[in-house]
Amino acid sequence: MAENRVIVVTGASRGIGRAIATALSEPGCRVVVNYHSSPEAAEETAAAIEARGGIPHLNRFNVADAEAVREAFKGIVSAHTRIDVLVNNAGITRDNLLALMKPSEWDAVLDTNLKGAFLCSQAVVKPMMRQRYGRIVNVTSVVGFIGNAGQCNYSAAKAGLIGFTRAMARELISRNITVNAVAPGYIETDMTVHMPEKARESLLTQIPAGRSGTPEEVASAVRFLSSNEAAYITGQVIHVNGGMFMG
Ligand code: NAP
Repeated sequence: MAENRVIVVTGASRGIGRAIATALSEPGCRVVVNYHSSPEAAEETAAAIEARGGIPHLNRFNVADAEAVREAFKGIVSAHTRIDVLVNNAGITRDNLLALMKPSEWDAVLDTNLKGAFLCSQAVVKPMMRQRYGRIVNVTSVVGFIGNAGQCNYSAAKAGLIGFTRAMARELISRNITVNAVAPGYIETDMTVHMPEKARESLLTQIPAGRSGTPEEVASAVRFLSSNEAAYITGQVIHVNGGMFMG
C-alpha cells in the first residue's frame, strides 16, 4: 500500500468498523475514525491505529445528516488535501416484523445504512476524480441477498447498497476509482450480541463453517479491495460468511 494514504472509515468506533480502521492502518497513513455516539470507543480505535503506526483523526458526525457530512468532508479534504479510501461501514438495525414496522424504523435504517453511504460517497467523488485515484468499499450484508424475517428495512437498505455499488463502479472506473462491497454473514459484534440463544443456535446450523465470523475476517477483505492489488476489481461483492450464502 502507498504510504501516507488518507483513509476514512464511517462507524469506526466499534465492531467491524474498528477492525477495518485498524487493518487499513500503515505507518504514516492518516485514518479518519468517524463515529456518532461513542467517543470513548472511538478513542480505543485511535489507540489501535497508533499501535500500527497510523495517525488517527477522530471525526464525529451523523452519516445520515447531509449538512454534517458535507461539512465533515470539506474539513477532511482541507486538512489532508486528498482522500484515497472511503469505507462506508456505519450501520444500524431497527428490527420489527413488517406488519408492525413503524415508518420511523424504516426511515432510520434506510437513512443511516443507504443514504449515509450515498452522502459520504458523493462527498469523496470530486477529490478522488481530481486525484485520479480512489477506493470505495461499502459494507453490505448477506441479508441483502437472502433477506431476513424481521429485517425488511435492513435487508432493503443492504440490497440497495449493492445496486448503488455497481452503478457507482460503472461511473467511476474511468477515473481509476474502484467501488466494491463486502457482505459479512454473522459476525459477533454489539449489533448481534443481543440475539436470543435459540436464534443464534439456529443461525449457526446454516453456516457450513460452523461458527460466526470475526470483525478482523471482514476487515481482511476490505483491506484487499482497498489495496493497489485490487485495481482491476470493481462493482464486485466479496462474501465473508463461512459459506452461509454463495453468490
Ligand atoms: P456495531 O458494532 O453496532 O457498530 C456500528 C457502528 O456504526 C458504530 O461505530 C456506530 O458508531 C456507527 N454508527 C451508527 N450509526 C451511525 C451514524 N448515523 N453515523 C455515524 N456512525 C454511525 O455494528 P457492526 O456489527 O460492527 O456493523 C458494522 C457494519 O457491518 C454495519 O453496516 C452492519 O450493517 C454491517 N454488518 C454487520 C454484520 C454483523 O453480523 N455484525 C453482518 C453483516 C453486515 P457510534 O457507536 O459512535 O454511534
